[in-house]
Amino acid sequence: MAPDSTEGSLKQRGVRLTRQRQILLELIDKTGSHLDAEGLYRLAKERDPKLNRVTVYRTLKMLKSGGLVDELDLMHYGGDQHYYETRLKQEHAHVICLRCGKVEEFYGEPLQRLRRQIESHFAFQVLLARTEVGGYCAHCQTLRAREVEELRKRLAEPVEPPAKPAPRRAPAKTRRGRSERA
Ligand SMILES: [Zn+2]
Ligand SMILES: [Zn+2]
Repeated sequence: MAPDSTEGSLKQRGVRLTRQRQILLELIDKTGSHLDAEGLYRLAKERDPKLNRVTVYRTLKMLKSGGLVDELDLMHYGGDQHYYETRLKQEHAHVICLRCGKVEEFYGEPLQRLRRQIESHFAFQVLLARTEVGGYCAHCQTLRAREVEELRKRLAEPVEPPAKPAPRRAPAKTRRGRSERA
């Protein structure tokens, strides 16, 4: 087994791979997306209906403390949720759309350069770097521009005076039993 695979490193650390752990690892390794614990639980359950939520959460915790998966908050776009991805991926920055929640991954030399600069500037040994960038994706920029335009138009419209209340009709007098002729 390749030593750089998640499974390989787990074996090296003497962590027994139960079927359930294996399912979870495969999901994190292969989906390549950033799934939260609930999402992972749902996918894992499709593969093994007997899998329960507690096992999933416990396994994630183990994988995280073992340094095999990264736990991300992605700018807290989803509130308190955390997202998981394999540590085996090359270092990358997460670019998060704060409107639709789309996550892009930026790989590139600038990240390695930043790491080297920090190391030399502070005489620091970088073990882990996490870069997150929040903003609006191209699609959401268009939608936002449209929204702003609509809002501006609405604000420019003359404010109509409040409609006058309809004249109240006097309540019809109850006829007395009196005869008109009297
Ligand atoms: Zn977006
Ligand atoms: Zn990522």
